[in-house]
Amino acid sequence: MSAYEAVIGLEVHAELLTESKMFCGCAVVDSTTAEPNTVVCPICLGMPGVLPVINRRAVEFAIRVGLALNCQIATTNVFARKSYFYPDLPKGYQISQYELPLAINGWLEIDLPNGSTKRIGIRRAHLEEDTGKSIHVGGSSLIDFNRSGVPLLEIVTEPDIRSAEEAEAYGRKLRAILQYLGVNSGDMSKGVLRMEPNISVRPVGSNELRTRTEVKNLNSIRSLARASALEIERQIKIYESGGTVTQATLGWDEARGTLVMQREKESAHDYRYFPEPDLPPLVISPEWIEAIRRSLPELPDAKRNRLIALGLGAYEASVLVADRAVADYFEAVVASGAEPKKAANWIINELFARMNKAALPSENIAETRVAPSALAELIRLVDSGTINNNAAKKVLDALFERGGAPAEIVRQLGLEQTQDTALIEAAILKVLEANPAEVARFCNGEEKVLKFLIGQVMREGRGKFPAELTNALLNEHLRKRC
Ligand code: ADP
Ligand code: MG
Ligand code: ZN
Repeated sequence: MSAYEAVIGLEVHAELLTESKMFCGCAVVDSTTAEPNTVVCPICLGMPGVLPVINRRAVEFAIRVGLALNCQIATTNVFARKSYFYPDLPKGYQISQYELPLAINGWLEIDLPNGSTKRIGIRRAHLEEDTGKSIHVGGSSLIDFNRSGVPLLEIVTEPDIRSAEEAEAYGRKLRAILQYLGVNSGDMSKGVLRMEPNISVRPVGSNELRTRTEVKNLNSIRSLARASALEIERQIKIYESGGTVTQATLGWDEARGTLVMQREKESAHDYRYFPEPDLPPLVISPEWIEAIRRSLPELPDAKRNRLIALGLGAYEASVLVADRAVADYFEAVVASGAEPKKAANWIINELFARMNKAALPSENIAETRVAPSALAELIRLVDSGTINNNAAKKVLDALFERGGAPAEIVRQLGLEQTQDTALIEAAILKVLEANPAEVARFCNGEEKVLKFLIGQVMREGRGKFPAELTNALLNEHLRKRC
């Protein structure tokens, strides 16, 4: 057992899915695909003399998140200038919030692998604007300002996280909540959701906050977990060999799966924060806050509890709600008439396995060729005894490959089960003739040979014998012989 424990606080930047940017009318576009510098104007290019105007939708989205994270929403908000120089920040300052952030003092409940839950404190969530993007090509640096001024919500936790697993659980839950709220796509590979863990370690039982490091450039929840685990390990090794951890910013090399030292011994930045003179304080009425609270959608925890009430296990329910796309898919299968427990089984055990093989992440479930209604129909075909489980898996393979209607695929592949009792009985007789010793053992009370005999008969049927009917017929014939 390690004598050290990790102390982690997460800073998350989430771009908000508004139509237009934070302080101007430019459209928010996918900055990984749009032609560079096509959605820009004097305001988001930071020209002198222009005036920002606050995007009401961005404020609404931020309030949604604040409420979902159990925060207090400040009725008086002040935007602040955070001054620093960087080529992708043409104004020389970022409009952010400092002393009076929009949301404070909240919490989020994480689900741990052992089935328990834990509350992670949310220190603050504030609105700001994103910067442009530097692109380095062959010795030159180019800048794309499409992202400049996109609304950004920074969400900062208390240092309540104690392990890489907890950091992962926090990342997953927060991402799910943002997706459910419709304020962020959760697509970390596109950089619209960025998570930065601040990490330190200390002897178990101590309350001190030791020197921390910060890891940047994580573009998936998995990387967040891996990088955190490696950094915890690195710091423990330093302390165990008698050294001290120096404050540093680390990067993450996704391809190699390693941490990269970026800047060491960083002195505290002096951003010269002061209230943004071009914007009046943002006053949010309690009525507006309450209206937004009433309009909040069902969030992951509530959905999970509802699924458990439908008969699902806690684990299944957590898996299904972890991604909004998966939850929506599951609900669509159930809406098409499938029993919830069976729908969950087919999605988690069968559909996910096929997606996994095709390197398709679960969040892309809507892009598979298996329509929710088709999965529901497949389950119906099994329930009605038209096909057995093995045949159903073959049908799912075909659906996954090329889509279509299950009944049609069953016909094409000739997978219907037979209702022809004469055919089944012929197979039973053949098996009983071929296995006289087993029949004798059965008659002597050795019930377990029954399993073997059923297996033999089912094999004769090549997937076309319905299990229940075959079972009943076999029993009947066996008893006649005893
Ligand atoms: P800054 O403004 O310099 O980024 P903050 O005080 O806002 O610093 O903290 C950033 C994050 O670091 C927060 O999530 C906080 O919980 C976390 N944090 C602060 N001190 C420590 C520490 N000693 N070890 C780990 N995390 C820490
Ligand atoms: Mg910070
Ligand atoms: Zn603009």
